[in-house]
Amino acid sequence: MSFQQFGLHPDLLEAVHHLSYHEPTPIQQQAIPVALTGRDLIGCAQTGTGKTAAFALPILNKLHPGRGGKIRALILTPTRELAAQINEVFQSLAAHTKIYTAAVYGGVGSPPQARALRLGTDVIVATPGRLLDHLTNGVGRFDALEFLVLDEADRMLDMGFLPDVKRIIARLPQRRQTMMFSATMPKEILQLSHQILQDPANIQIGRQAAPAEGVSQSAYPVAQHLKADLLVALLEVIETERGAAGNMESVLIFARTKVRTERLAHALKQGGFDAALIHGDRTQGQRLAALEGFRNGRYRILVATDIAARGIDVDGISHVINFDVPVTPEDYVHRIGRTARAKAVGEALTLVAPGEESFLAAIQQLIKTKIPRQTVPDFDYSRVFLPRPEGQGRRKKRSEFRGSNGRANSGHRGRTRRGAGRPAFA
Ligand code: AMP
Repeated sequence: MSFQQFGLHPDLLEAVHHLSYHEPTPIQQQAIPVALTGRDLIGCAQTGTGKTAAFALPILNKLHPGRGGKIRALILTPTRELAAQINEVFQSLAAHTKIYTAAVYGGVGSPPQARALRLGTDVIVATPGRLLDHLTNGVGRFDALEFLVLDEADRMLDMGFLPDVKRIIARLPQRRQTMMFSATMPKEILQLSHQILQDPANIQIGRQAAPAEGVSQSAYPVAQHLKADLLVALLEVIETERGAAGNMESVLIFARTKVRTERLAHALKQGGFDAALIHGDRTQGQRLAALEGFRNGRYRILVATDIAARGIDVDGISHVINFDVPVTPEDYVHRIGRTARAKAVGEALTLVAPGEESFLAAIQQLIKTKIPRQTVPDFDYSRVFLPRPEGQGRRKKRSEFRGSNGRANSGHRGRTRRGAGRPAFA
């Protein structure tokens, strides 16, 4: 996708080109077309994902060519630094237009800001406190305002800005386009949004703040070298429990690196579980085929990295298994958000090696939930690490990732002898 496709004015495209924005980021791809229609919107995306341009470009496009002598757009943001930064982005993007912009924030002299407000600068980027000071002094008229943006809306509320924001909004025309951007969407923001937005489009990019309600979570402590064996044992349990009920199950397994996903998918195949595979080094054709196979039920298991799994939207994923505990706690929320979508139920299982306990603790802190610990009955957790003999090649036998799981070998899909597993993921 290119910026040309949005139908933006050539003056803006030239600025985009100078800034070396070669293609729109995901939030830009989704937010710009909606914003250009004039509809209110809530954009949920992390900082640093290009959301400033996502709202600045549609605004500038409407204000073009500028110099109307009235304040037509107001951007409210919680910190001075952000106000300055956003103003710079506006200035860069408006470089080939006559649109004027100014930042209004505390800690610096107010006369130049008052002048900008009086002159009717097209775009004002402000922190609420200083802007209210000016308004209280009778400086600044917003009757011609067309756009209001609340940037970092969650932080503004966290910092107790809500009363100030409400006082400012009370002075704005009701007829305007309002956009809110936030990394997370807590209840307060949603409530606020109902008060100030009209029929907003919701745009969600990336992580969500909290796990879906229908997900039941559990953690399986296990030595690193036994993880692959435990995973196979877990899959057998899932298969037995759910297979008996006749349910079609889809299991999404996350591993930390591309190499580990490759090895894991291979190990599962050897263990009798056919798995599709997605990660960033696979070709688009392979990725599409894997996803399609997972969607249509040809593969019940998909092994993925975080990066490749982002954006995966498959109905009916019953289990998400974290073969590795995600290092970034938000990734956990993102991963397990793949199951229990659209109010369905699902299970999230996390294999935790002793060295990963601190990552699990960070996750529990983020989601404010203690994840119950489980064990797989009959699994032999005591098997020791058996170093691979010198000079022995990798993975000669089908049993490499199979160990003594303590379960009678059912002959399931031709899996082989017990106790032959080696530490593939140590
Ligand atoms: P923001 O989330 O708006 O703070 O943007 C984060 C960084 O991404 C800034 O340095 C922007 O200049 C940059 N940026 C925004 N949009 C794009 C784009 N389409 N391509 C490349 N960089 C971008």
